[in-house]
Amino acid sequence: MAGRVVKRAFKYRFYPTVMQADQLARTFGCTRYVYNRALAERSRAWSQERRRVTYADTSKMLTGWKRDAGTEWLAEPSKGPLQESLRQLQGAFERFWRKQSRYPQFKRKGRSRDSATFFSNCFTYRGGQIRLAKQSEPLDIRWSRPLPEGAVPSQVTVSRNARGQYHVSILAEDTITEAPSTDRVVGLDAGITSLYTLSTGEKVTNPRHERRDRARLAQAQRVLAKKQKGSRNRAKARLKVAKIHGRIADRRRDHLHKLSTRLVRENQVIAIEDLSVRNMVKNRSLSRVISDASWSEFRSMLEYKADWYGRRVVAIDRFYPSSKTCSVCGAIASTMPLTVREWTCRCGAVHDRDVNAAKNILAVGLTVTACGDGVRPPHT
Ligand SMILES: [Zn+2]
Repeated sequence: MAGRVVKRAFKYRFYPTVMQADQLARTFGCTRYVYNRALAERSRAWSQERRRVTYADTSKMLTGWKRDAGTEWLAEPSKGPLQESLRQLQGAFERFWRKQSRYPQFKRKGRSRDSATFFSNCFTYRGGQIRLAKQSEPLDIRWSRPLPEGAVPSQVTVSRNARGQYHVSILAEDTITEAPSTDRVVGLDAGITSLYTLSTGEKVTNPRHERRDRARLAQAQRVLAKKQKGSRNRAKARLKVAKIHGRIADRRRDHLHKLSTRLVRENQVIAIEDLSVRNMVKNRSLSRVISDASWSEFRSMLEYKADWYGRRVVAIDRFYPSSKTCSVCGAIASTMPLTVREWTCRCGAVHDRDVNAAKNILAVGLTVTACGDGVRPPHT
């Protein structure tokens, strides 16, 4: 099996020295400032002049800010992180325009995730160690798994989350071996009771500990709500909430990585629904489930892994009535409230709501792979 070379991010925890932490704090301060100021500039131009400020415009502004009296300190950090901050903002706007997320928000010190990206001219990788520009000591990285043999990192992103933990994400080339082709296919329904339901009838539930973590989170949030604003105890309580949040997110991501790797390895075609998160969030009962399931993150995992292993992910039109259509005879039920978990079709078929939906998603997905995009199933 021939290997393919792909760019891949490897993420590790690291522990900065006091000096490194201090320098990073200043760099983060600058990236946050640039992000917020560019955001304010873009919002103002739009609301007052109906004018769209582009990434290139903000990049020119940045050059000016570095010369301005009052913000000359922006010239201190390496150039890379500040440019990347503007690019991140551009990405946030693009997701907003595609209706995938809400309007970009200002970054707040200690509340948002801080990050700084360094390109190959701003760091060195030698003897298995990463050293950032203007730092005398290499980063003390906990290498939980090795970088691939002979890897040449092209980009390094250093971040600090609301829990005060530091991570470094290293972009490097890796060789992936395509999996042998298979004739197995699967449909996937992002459900309500189960996390995901497969057309095979398998239900994949939330990660272990999720319920207990949720209960702890609710408890910590109640404690936080009772603390006086601005007090030390409130800051402590907030950190506790952030820690539980972070743990839930870490475990969920880990769970989704395992699930997506498995599905991609086992199946040639994976059919999913093209859910628009924004539209579903309007429905309150679904909103938690959707954010829990981190649907868009999961979808992108499936897509890039499918690409690595020579598989295909087909996303079908979200307006296709996958829950209401009988996967046996194609009849469409007139209504299907969310509370209905099981139903019987006129043809006599008894359906589990989610398994039936997953089967329909698979059927449409296979029609699309066979006939090309834009093809509609017969009964819509
Ligand atoms: Zn039927």
